[in-house]
Amino acid sequence: MNLCDIETIRAVLGRHGFHFSKSLGQNFLTDESVPRRIAEMSGAAECGNAIEVGPGMGCLSAELCRRADKVVAVELDRALMPVLAETLADYDNFEVVHGDVLETDLAALCKEKFGDGKAIACANLPYYITTPAITALLESGAFEQVTVMVQKEVAQRICAEPGTAAYSAFSIYVQYHAKTEILFDVPADCFVPRPKVDSAVLKLVPLDKPAVETKDEKLFFSLVRAAFNMRRKTLVNALGPVLGSSMSKEEITALVEAAGLDARVRGERLSLAEYAKLADLAAEKLS
Ligand code: SAM
Repeated sequence: MNLCDIETIRAVLGRHGFHFSKSLGQNFLTDESVPRRIAEMSGAAECGNAIEVGPGMGCLSAELCRRADKVVAVELDRALMPVLAETLADYDNFEVVHGDVLETDLAALCKEKFGDGKAIACANLPYYITTPAITALLESGAFEQVTVMVQKEVAQRICAEPGTAAYSAFSIYVQYHAKTEILFDVPADCFVPRPKVDSAVLKLVPLDKPAVETKDEKLFFSLVRAAFNMRRKTLVNALGPVLGSSMSKEEITALVEAAGLDARVRGERLSLAEYAKLADLAAEKLS
């Protein structure tokens, strides 16, 4: 069965009385080359174990099942359970778990399903949970590779370089934890129903240790968030809400200069290493 063929999709879903839910971000792929390429590049064949988020009616799951030893998918919509039982009946290495990925302990799920074996994660993510889902996948520490389709702008933001309009606190968060790469773009007309935006497939390879060393990770991310909360202000002014209760504006200026930065710089220009240096100097000063 070609699970990306629009007539097949309509027939199967019609048989099960299934209706797309906009609030669950249900946009199913209709171009069979897309799930095939995602599965090929996901590392599923090399790793053997795969977790999928949101299998829908199973087009990506089937491609993963052809390559991995075992595929476990987490799907929130109970109405898709009988659909998946039909579409993936030929794959005895597929299992679906009903649940919300944001409330699933992914490390425990991997341990339960794969023992001590390594796993990769793969998904055509529903847009409405992109940021928390990527955060949960990275924080679980359970995956060798995370390959996810997301809105194109979000993929660009995640991979953005300092000084660009797309660079954000989330770019820094993801780049702190993983090597990032956009694999390919997927136009909106590859889905049913057609979303308003284009998508891109993102490859994240979690790092063994964070991309930069910091003495105080919490302070590092507080400084990053403060800088991007007021990205139009200079870094010195933007850091006021975090450091202002313990340091005068002159001391914050001295701190920024001690980190080798111009006192008029904006936070959006700083690399991860520069934020790490700034956070370490601030931690020293605050201790
Ligand atoms: N993988 C299919 C495909 O590519 O055609 C469907 C992808 S569709 C964009 C997103 C899927 O995620 C839907 O099946 C939806 O029901 C499911 N989903 C939505 N929210 C979820 C959540 N919080 N946890 C797990 N699955 C979720």
